[in-house]
Amino acid sequence: MPSNQELFERAARSIPGGVNSPVRAFGSVGGTPRFIARAQGPYIHDAEGTRYIDYIGSWGPAILGHAHPEVIRAVQEAAVNGLSFGAPTEAEIDIAEALIRRIPSIEQVRLVSSGTEATMSAIRLARGFTGRSKIVKFEGCYHGHADSLLVKAGSGLLTFGNPTSAGVPPEFVAHTLVLEYNNLDAVAQAFEQHGNEIACIIVEPFAGNMNLVKAAPGFLEGLRELCTRHGAVLVFDEVMTGLRVGPQGVQGLTGVTPDLTTLAKIIGGGMPVGAFGGRADIMARIAPVGDVYQAGTLSGNPVAVAAGLTTLRLLEAPGFYEQLAIQTRKLTDGLQARAQAAGVPFCADAVGGMFGLYFRDSIPTRYAEVSQCDTQAFNRFFHGMLDHGVHFAPSAFEAGFVSATHDDGVIQHTLDAAEDVFETVRAG
Ligand SMILES: *Cc1c(COP(=O)(O)O)cnc(C)c1O
Repeated sequence: MPSNQELFERAARSIPGGVNSPVRAFGSVGGTPRFIARAQGPYIHDAEGTRYIDYIGSWGPAILGHAHPEVIRAVQEAAVNGLSFGAPTEAEIDIAEALIRRIPSIEQVRLVSSGTEATMSAIRLARGFTGRSKIVKFEGCYHGHADSLLVKAGSGLLTFGNPTSAGVPPEFVAHTLVLEYNNLDAVAQAFEQHGNEIACIIVEPFAGNMNLVKAAPGFLEGLRELCTRHGAVLVFDEVMTGLRVGPQGVQGLTGVTPDLTTLAKIIGGGMPVGAFGGRADIMARIAPVGDVYQAGTLSGNPVAVAAGLTTLRLLEAPGFYEQLAIQTRKLTDGLQARAQAAGVPFCADAVGGMFGLYFRDSIPTRYAEVSQCDTQAFNRFFHGMLDHGVHFAPSAFEAGFVSATHDDGVIQHTLDAAEDVFETVRAG
């Protein structure tokens, strides 16, 4: 049996950094990533045969737990009928209708194959619809790796952004205004200066890519009002939060209605599916009916759609989200109590089946506060938990995920491990 270390070294010879997405490489925590051989329910098993309780859940999709038998069966049945046709199928109508029925702001929806594609397409659509070029995003929010979104704030409050990646020409982000999350005054100022040039605001309505940071009361409402007043499109990127924080995403929790919504992760049930949808008059601008081009060879792939549809159906079980939220709170409350007992500065937050762990004294509300978390303490916690068979995300700046299979026994095992590990975190 090859060890994780052997696999990592072998992988690094054929794959840059040994991984196909950077965070998997354990770059910020150090050590060797676990190469996963299989997963079932709340557990992942690595190549060495070690079992871990998994709080990554494939970065969100595994809300039912890994390898749910009904999802696997749906995939198997779909596969037998052919893997891809490049022609429309009835199941695509079913999943479009299922999304429209669940999320009231979505009147029409187009399927893609990833979250990146969904946000990239939504922004092109917003620009086409408004005839404007500039977009607003927020520091710490992640919307996939499209050029115009790989951007950090410029030096002044309302200066346009700088690329965060080599290979992105400054001209490509020159239309992207990066503002502070939860700072409505900054957005109001941006609209004062650039109101008739701004095509859209794109926002994670609750941010999950700078750890978990919830919108402050009034923030999303304010964005809605400014967009309406200035004729800009409000895009909620619910790739992570949609069907994760509740059946209708953050828009269902807050009652704030975006013009466009992007989805992915859970709606594919572990297969590559993304989607963008919203107001029918905006969606009517998409090709072939409209003049905004968007396409995909594998969009609406029948095997992926089968996994997504089955997942959406299983999420409708009565009390599903209530129970998920209860289990997630047991985890975060339990961790908080054990950290406090050990004297470690720590707090935690949760919404639905999503949580944040912060090695600082209070729950952060913006990127600058998230950056103040003690990453050394987090890294000790991460590796300590891993040694106890519990796999959290390998970064202090990622949200965590609980599935329907994280029962009391699984949570208790986690908390018992944390009781030991917080002692070593404090000892330093
Ligand atoms: C994961 C994520 C994306 C990117 O999705 P991919 O499928 O990885 O391309 C975009 N937006 C948000 C909010 C995400 O969490």
